[in-house]
Amino acid sequence: MTNQPPFLALGGPPATPGVVHLVGAGPGDVGQLTLRAAQVLSTCDVVAYDRLAPAEALALVPDHADLIDVGRRYGDPGVGRDEVDTLLRERAAAGHAVVRLKGGDPFVFGRGGEEAAACAAEGIPVEVVPGVTSAVAVPGAAGIPVTHRGVATGFAVVTVHEDPTKHAAQIDHQALAAFPGTLVFLMGLRRVAPVCEQLIAHGRDPGTPAAVVSAGTTPRQRTVRATLATLADAVAAADLQPPAIIVVGDVAALPDLVGREVRPLHGLRVGLPRTRRRGSDLAAHLRSVGADVVEVPLAREEPGDVAAIGRAAADLLAGRVDEVVVLDAAGLEVVLAAAVDLGGDARALAGVRLTVVGRRTAAQVRRDLHLAADVTVGSAGELADLPDAAPDRRVLVLGPDADLRTRDLLPDATAVTTSRLRPQPVPDVHVDVWLVPASRLVPLLAEAYSDPRVPLVSMGPVTSAALRDAGLEVAAEAAAATPVAVEDALTSLLRRDGGSGWTASPAED
Ligand code: SAH
Repeated sequence: MTNQPPFLALGGPPATPGVVHLVGAGPGDVGQLTLRAAQVLSTCDVVAYDRLAPAEALALVPDHADLIDVGRRYGDPGVGRDEVDTLLRERAAAGHAVVRLKGGDPFVFGRGGEEAAACAAEGIPVEVVPGVTSAVAVPGAAGIPVTHRGVATGFAVVTVHEDPTKHAAQIDHQALAAFPGTLVFLMGLRRVAPVCEQLIAHGRDPGTPAAVVSAGTTPRQRTVRATLATLADAVAAADLQPPAIIVVGDVAALPDLVGREVRPLHGLRVGLPRTRRRGSDLAAHLRSVGADVVEVPLAREEPGDVAAIGRAAADLLAGRVDEVVVLDAAGLEVVLAAAVDLGGDARALAGVRLTVVGRRTAAQVRRDLHLAADVTVGSAGELADLPDAAPDRRVLVLGPDADLRTRDLLPDATAVTTSRLRPQPVPDVHVDVWLVPASRLVPLLAEAYSDPRVPLVSMGPVTSAALRDAGLEVAAEAAAATPVAVEDALTSLLRRDGGSGWTASPAED
């Protein structure tokens, strides 16, 4: 039996072979992806996506599936778009489950209608997965409701065509200027001035509130509020980047009760090296306070020293161990599994003192392995100061790279390397600050990214020491290895730089 497809619990079927799924990806924040979109993305065979698709959405795609980038920026001739759509229809005709992922909703200026018609002409079935459109969600994320009782009883969504020759013919400025409600313009960042001028020329009050919101719903969201008369200058002064929408109407003057852009770390691009596939609580917390967290897989966890793991299990079963020091819950689990292979079980730990490094690891050991620590220390550095660390005690240290990490701290202990970090090829990323979660990542980070202008924030004294040993400067150190303490360290760094030491990086699209 194969693994149950993800999101099956939602009740919907997986992506269907032979079908083109036209899927809306929402405006940028992965939280706006629909559950149906997640379901088809995680069960398809091929996905074509463009620059508005959230990176996290692509992480849902199964390993076997092909990812096709239909990247197109302003000014590009749009190379490949039609070819890709043709290819997708061929793949569907060949029996693959195909996803065409589009920003926002596929039928709002997304050419979804054309694509559906092309499929129909070839007899290829289509499933439309509607998405959260930026036309409504982006003003909303900036605290601008597109309708509001007593202020706006309707809204119109309009595209500002980027081709100036077609522009005049496509927009009925007279009708727009007279529209009794909120106007939302898409694809118009480079035409803010003519849009505002035309509305004024056709009778809209120059004092009408207006706003531009760029990168809405993402950590790079920025809003400029002005009036029809002043918006173009205000937007130019703020140097906003696409994608952006223009909102015109009294709703743009309502107070921003959402406050997304004033979160403590809003827009700060934080690099977080990691060694595992799953996202971390730390990343989730930093995102909740506005940070743009880029998780970079610097290394992969590979199996450790199998012979040493077997010996450790045998020693435990034979009662030849007084103390086990656990650096990582998975490390203990590997050794217990080896004990089971030898005919024993978790009772091998009876009478053995269990020392766990890190409160989170202790909680994990308790939850996953149902074992309570006798002693919990905050970090590996505290191991050397433990009482009873007499030289004749027989101590096993279990964990990833245990040999390298505890050689100096516990020279008389037997280190059992339950897994090893292997460096991975790293992507080219630009961040405002790097977080360094563990000392063992220091050499990998120094090797992969070495821009001295990017400050390094360490998550503990041992990591700070390792950074200094490597000749690197520690810009700030978290008071504890907890998400809130890390947030505080980042906030203090921003405050020290007067908030001007960094600027929100432009979107990597
Ligand atoms: N189908 C999409 C729109 C595609 S047209 C939807 O329903 O949202 C692309 C335009 O959408 C951009 O030029 C911009 O005007 C707008 N847009 C999309 N995502 C945006 C975002 N996160 N912030 C601001 N504008 C966005």
